[in-house]
Amino acid sequence: MKLRLAIVGAGPAGIYAADILLKYERSFDVSIDLFEQLPAPYGLVRYGVAPDHPRIKGVIGALRDIVDRGDIRIFGNVLYGRDITLDDLKKHYHAVIFSTGAVRDAGLDIPGVDLPGSFGAAEFVSWYDGHPDYPRTWPLTAQSVAVLGNGNVALDVARILAKHPDDLLPTDIPDNVYEGLVASPVTDVHVFGRRGPMQVKFTPLELRELGELRDVEMVLHEEDFHYDEASRRAIESNKQVFVIDKVFTKWRERAAEQAQGEAAPASRRLHLHFYAKPVEIVGDENGITSYRYERTEPDGSGGVRGTGEIREVPVQAVYRAIGYFGSPLDGIPFDDERGVIPNHEGQVLNHHNEVVSGVYATGWIKRGPVGLIGHTKSDAMETISHLINDQGSWWDPVDPSPEAIPQLLAERGVSWTDLDGWHRLDEHEVALGVPHERARIKVVDRDVMVRVSRGE
Ligand code: NAP
Repeated sequence: MKLRLAIVGAGPAGIYAADILLKYERSFDVSIDLFEQLPAPYGLVRYGVAPDHPRIKGVIGALRDIVDRGDIRIFGNVLYGRDITLDDLKKHYHAVIFSTGAVRDAGLDIPGVDLPGSFGAAEFVSWYDGHPDYPRTWPLTAQSVAVLGNGNVALDVARILAKHPDDLLPTDIPDNVYEGLVASPVTDVHVFGRRGPMQVKFTPLELRELGELRDVEMVLHEEDFHYDEASRRAIESNKQVFVIDKVFTKWRERAAEQAQGEAAPASRRLHLHFYAKPVEIVGDENGITSYRYERTEPDGSGGVRGTGEIREVPVQAVYRAIGYFGSPLDGIPFDDERGVIPNHEGQVLNHHNEVVSGVYATGWIKRGPVGLIGHTKSDAMETISHLINDQGSWWDPVDPSPEAIPQLLAERGVSWTDLDGWHRLDEHEVALGVPHERARIKVVDRDVMVRVSRGE
């Protein structure tokens, strides 16, 4: 018996799931085809992790080791629902795992959210990471910018906006992104969290990094640091919160010292505002003029309540970094509230809460957009053990032969890319960097990516 498995989504979740299944002790053979809508693999590691986070980008090394073993076939530039359908998968595989992640921005229902100059962080991240499906230019015309949210994505966005672009040159940022950032007139980036500094979702390493940006001053507000009982308890009981408090304390002391001294002022400032609940993005069809928020106060249990006091900060752009959201897939149940595929430990459930045979989920599309890349491993383990135990209910494909898929894609005129193609694109990007003494320059245009991959 041989399990023919399709995995849709070649990010860390899909690649780890394939790896875990291949290494799992089992009584049958396995052959895996990995489908990816982009011409290159690695999903959010290539198109979500900020370019100046080489440590996290290093995960690519581990993913590359897995795909380079050659025991997983990759079909890149193949969009599920258009180039390959659920019916096709049922004809040629025993089961499918969806690992399509969450790449959209969660909605924010406040007046002005649709004004020109109001952006979702996911879109901006896709732009600066050179995602082929996003515009090449970004309207970086604002001097003062608001970033909403207190997660790591908010810090990524704030850092990329505030950082001097020359300091990004050692990274793999595409040329168009560097040029866009060079033209930006930004001087002030304001980050707004709706709760307090001890209730943030970002992590200590990422916070500390902000304070190390060249020629960028961190601005905190003393009124945000009168800790309530819940905040004090969090510092005592949670190591991360403890370190975050230390970082803030150091910055506050540094600011107090600088106020006494005569150090030259930085040319850019990064302001952190806490207890600030979104109320309105103010402006008209010509653009944004300010961001309005309600001052909140701690409720004693880690939450906040409104105070009724409305404040306003002049800004010309707003970036909403309040979480990602998954996208529905053709023929597969979807939870519109949570933006995930409804599932029990990775077994997909229909709207009557019954297990759907042969269909599984893993990664962010399974559990929602929280957690670090490493968490997808335990997640995949759970999904894979169900897949294996469910052998009796897998699909019964009419043609499980491996040749059927390239044949089908060729008949449909799909220009798919494979592992050799990825190696060609990878080498091409590295070569582009050589004359500029850069490790790599990413190719952004999808047609060019496909042509280079296919050796055309
Ligand atoms: P996140 O960690 O869930 O943070 C979302 C933030 O948005 C929270 O501060 C949340 O506040 C706030 N928020 C949600 N709804 C809001 C609303 N209606 N109004 C105002 N604020 C609102 O999500 P994320 O930043 O998108 O990150 C996703 C995952 O990727 C996280 O696990 C993150 O650590 C990871 N990641 C890691 C890195 C890294 O460098 N290590 C980089 C990027 C992403 P509340 O807490 O009050 O709900």
